[in-house]
Amino acid sequence: MKTEFLTMENLGKAIDALRQGEIVAFPTETVYGLGADATNTRACQKIFEAKGRPADNPLIIHVLDLSGLERLIRGPLPETARILAETFWPGPVTVVLPANDTIPLAVRGGMPTVAIRVPSDKIARSLIEGLGRPIAAPSANRSGRPSPTRALDVWHDLRGQIPYIIDGGESLVGLESTIVDCSLDEPVLLRPGFVGLETLESVLKRKVLLPGANTPHKAPGMKYTHYAPHAPVIWINMKEDHLIEEALRKLDHEYHRNIALLAPLKWQNYCAKFFLALGDNVETVAHGLFSGFRELDRHNPDAIVVIWDENDSGVGLAIANRLGKASLKQFGRVRQVRE
Ligand code: AMP
Ligand code: MG
Repeated sequence: MKTEFLTMENLGKAIDALRQGEIVAFPTETVYGLGADATNTRACQKIFEAKGRPADNPLIIHVLDLSGLERLIRGPLPETARILAETFWPGPVTVVLPANDTIPLAVRGGMPTVAIRVPSDKIARSLIEGLGRPIAAPSANRSGRPSPTRALDVWHDLRGQIPYIIDGGESLVGLESTIVDCSLDEPVLLRPGFVGLETLESVLKRKVLLPGANTPHKAPGMKYTHYAPHAPVIWINMKEDHLIEEALRKLDHEYHRNIALLAPLKWQNYCAKFFLALGDNVETVAHGLFSGFRELDRHNPDAIVVIWDENDSGVGLAIANRLGKASLKQFGRVRQVRE
């Protein structure tokens, strides 16, 4: 199949393709998505096939507004979901609620619930509006790879497998949405994202639980390896410079000096063959993490080493979550063992 790039000016082709049950990659403010008509099981199956995504990993459904959500859920809208929608939509927050039959079970990965989000990106919104139906869209990468934040990233992963990639420039946020399960009595943060835990708790005026031993459920996708470039990622999660230097020295030796370093600028001359600056506040780090992985991978390093001193506030929790899942090995505080 030939893969063609489109822009805002010729979205009609993409909308026609979606109508005919095809899949299309498009920009959103979080990362690039791979979309299909969410009510068409066969069309959504093409997403799973193109990504190599396991069938039990459900897709997030994108709608235009709260009334679009209400058409997809069973029972009344819970107060938590209403507050989150009113506060953050359009924007990078996804809510999980009991599903009615509108979205086929296979699209929901066999779950009785449905995950829904209202994107703010203009192109994403024009597609949903043009199709006149909700769009199911996971990130537009091969399963397990870093999410794409530019049209070219999608091209590298999916060229020849999808008819269209809409180029809308770089994704604003660079990390996937915050997912909150609102289907039970207490809200649970299933996936941290740009909107942090303390912000959720302050608008909801209640505790938001983290998935764990004392919560009954998990995000189904959490058990899969995620976000990893080809080179193994090694995360130095430390504060003290001398400890970081020591870890770098060890790694440099272990990987025969063929290391790519993604780190704050001050480490630029430190024993790495390739260096990319990782920004110095949580927003720029979130924005540059996945594109940094992809950029450095092009040099074929034996390892990509990331220096990031973990910080749980705001989007910091999401960065730590993605790094925990992407990394093969960690120095310092160990965040999350690969499942
Ligand atoms: P992605 O599309 O790659 O951003 O991942 C979507 C993630 O959303 C999945 O891996 C799940 O963790 C979560 N998700 C989607 N639908 C549901 C659902 N019905 N219930 C719980 N979590 C969901
Ligand atoms: Mg994804």
